[in-house]
Amino acid sequence: MRDFKSILNFIYNEAISQTEKGKVATYIPELAKIDIDNFGIYLKTMTGENYGVGDFNTPFSIQSISKVLALGKAMELIGESVFKRVDVEPSGHPFNQLALLEVENGIPRNPFINSGAIVIADILISNLKNPKTDFLNYVRDLCADKNINYNNAVAKSEKDTGFKNFAAANLLKSFKNLNNDVEEVLDFYFHQCSIEMTCSQLSNVFYFLANDGYCINKKLHLSNSQVKRINALMLTCGFYDEAGEFAFEVGLPGKSGVGGGIVALLPDHFIITTWAPGLNKKGNSLLGMKALEQFTTKTNLSIF
Ligand code: GLN
Repeated sequence: MRDFKSILNFIYNEAISQTEKGKVATYIPELAKIDIDNFGIYLKTMTGENYGVGDFNTPFSIQSISKVLALGKAMELIGESVFKRVDVEPSGHPFNQLALLEVENGIPRNPFINSGAIVIADILISNLKNPKTDFLNYVRDLCADKNINYNNAVAKSEKDTGFKNFAAANLLKSFKNLNNDVEEVLDFYFHQCSIEMTCSQLSNVFYFLANDGYCINKKLHLSNSQVKRINALMLTCGFYDEAGEFAFEVGLPGKSGVGGGIVALLPDHFIITTWAPGLNKKGNSLLGMKALEQFTTKTNLSIF
């Protein structure tokens, strides 16, 4: 049997001794306040083992990791028709790229770049009764934990400075790929991104994607084929223009956020979440990526 505990302790000690930690995101001013020295990992295995090291119990801003949960809910609500409005191709561009929208006639390349996630937010608003409350309850349900909330200060901070997201939403609206008001869609999107969770909560929330659609409460949310699709999208599009690098180094479906979190999983085996707020030049957690590379190398557990 693999000694996960000592592997994680080794990775933790390596990580906290690094001097090059990347840079905390500052374009959302509230996120600039986070201490770069935070570092946590939480591993949850399908055989019932759970291991946490470092700051695995400190809530942080999940940001783009929320896009996976939003896509999951949209697919639960309207199934395959989601993909009439967003494509499923990797973009090879940064998460906030606008040009892709224009060449593709208002159909974003995938649901994890910002323009794609804004279309998914529009779908959720059209299909949920009380969008913000219902979405938060969905996330809470997935991990059977009521102690998960929006951070309104982070949502407001992003709204005040989110000029590119306003541009993307307006562009989508001009192509008629947004049914609700730009303001309303972005208010939902900024709140969705502002959700705070700990590494352990995130590993619990993503359990359903490693467990054939059944969440830790044993409730079925998605079919096998829908789960396969979301995992394929995480593998090919979860890290924007660094998706190839993540597959190359780590070899797992995963999703990053500019809050410094990364969730990755091996279906039927485990879910692992890292948090290290310092980002590399592509906007992905520098030490989180290193930690996950070490994890799959040392355990020899990846999809390849
Ligand atoms: N809310 C952030 C944005 O729209 C999410 C980006 C990210 O985490 N990569 O810019």
